[in-house]
Amino acid sequence: MTKVHCAGCGRDIAMHELEAKTVARSSGFDTRYRCPFCHEDVNDVADNLA
Ligand SMILES: [Zn+2]
Repeated sequence: MTKVHCAGCGRDIAMHELEAKTVARSSGFDTRYRCPFCHEDVNDVADNLA
């Protein structure tokens, strides 16, 4: 199972546990993810999915 490491609280979080947030940008839409425990932004999700 793919998990990402949260730098905020040190937990390993499963992808389906992340809070997804879609934000509008000038270039289109961007999906950001946040830790459900400490609400820290998780910025390296794409890298971890590779
Ligand atoms: Zn966290």
